[in-house]
Amino acid sequence: MRKLVFATNNSHKLEEVSAVLGDQLDILSLKEIGCTEDIPETATTLEGNALLKAQHVYNQYGYDCFADDTGLEVEALEGRPGVYSARYAGEDQNAERNMEKLLHELEGSTNRRARFRTVVALIEGGNVRYFEGQIAGQIIGNRKGSAGFGYDPVFVPDGYSQTFAELGSELKNKISHRALAIQALIKYLKQQ
Ligand code: IMP
Repeated sequence: MRKLVFATNNSHKLEEVSAVLGDQLDILSLKEIGCTEDIPETATTLEGNALLKAQHVYNQYGYDCFADDTGLEVEALEGRPGVYSARYAGEDQNAERNMEKLLHELEGSTNRRARFRTVVALIEGGNVRYFEGQIAGQIIGNRKGSAGFGYDPVFVPDGYSQTFAELGSELKNKISHRALAIQALIKYLKQQ
């Protein structure tokens, strides 16, 4: 089976991507290749950050690799927090405080439209390709549910009445931004 490194230290992402991939691809984690350093995410776009992560692994460890970067883009906030979603409320990347800040900024706003957007960068033999997935929905007024991570407790995808954190991983892994980007990656790899 084809082996690729998934350049993430986020255990939730690793679980989600492994569930979407099933046995279609053998993924190696950063831990498995001995990469323990924090890879800087200093770019100003999702594409840029996904590429930085994949490039680090390819350059330093020589493995073909993919990485994802995700942002929550809120219409009433002109697309913020976007690429800065992880550090929205500070450098400590605290999901609770990020949601608190988001709900505070949207207080009184009738436009609650938002979307999650994931960009996956793949590096194979030095060649770079990008894949994208997005899902639109609404930011509700308070947290609901305990599954998932990040902003999942405040995001209700279009066509549903519960948050990602209430809907649970099985459904999220079928419809989410990350699932769609990974499905596009799988489709490309199968065509080769
Ligand atoms: P990253 O830079 O791709 O690691 O993600 C940025 C931030 O977006 C994370 O720290 C989370 O707060 C948030 N995020 C990413 N993916 C998801 C998701 O699937 N659900 C909810 N929040 C997410």
